[in-house]
Amino acid sequence: MNSCSYSIVLCGQKQRYRLTRKKVKNINLRIHRDGSIHVSAPSSVPLWQIEDFLYRKAMWICQALEKQKLLEAAFPQQCGYLFGKPVPIPPEEKPDEWLRRMAEEILPSAYEQAWALFQNDGFSKPQLRLQKMRSRWGSCIPAKGQITLNSVLIGTPVDCQIAVAAHELAHMMVPNHSPAFYSLLDERLPDYRDSHQKLKSAQSFLVHLW
Ligand SMILES: [Zn+2]
Repeated sequence: MNSCSYSIVLCGQKQRYRLTRKKVKNINLRIHRDGSIHVSAPSSVPLWQIEDFLYRKAMWICQALEKQKLLEAAFPQQCGYLFGKPVPIPPEEKPDEWLRRMAEEILPSAYEQAWALFQNDGFSKPQLRLQKMRSRWGSCIPAKGQITLNSVLIGTPVDCQIAVAAHELAHMMVPNHSPAFYSLLDERLPDYRDSHQKLKSAQSFLVHLW
């Protein structure tokens, strides 16, 4: 794994980005809380292809940087998201520790509310794990009786937290995303589709915040 800094002009502004070569399948792009741009790519992908990728993502990158700047101006101290609203993180606490602590405080109760919809379905309550994840809101391993919720969910409204927990609990009965799976969810949680829509719009922002 090696890492180098490059510059590129995006939306008329010169930006620096850090490129790390590692064993990944695709080109990955992340913007950190401090506004730095990080790209990872397999060593086989030439630089021009990476820059082409960045040009295609230019609008998104500039918007994300702009959001970050506004956020920093509004909250000079580190800020996190709780139930859809920004809140300051105590200066003595590292953002990751704050995220873990708040997730432990908040998500078990959303999980309980979702569990109430499935508790008579004949399977025992899966063990809940909380973890910061980049690409998904939750996961379920039915064979292990284990459900993982993304700690970043604390930033979304409570109905979204319940919807993700219910989605994973429904996988205990239907492992795939077949029509049967969604009709089970619709039956248990009639607002599921609304919450899902909100989650979609929150995803890129919240996941990249951490
Ligand atoms: Zn699923």
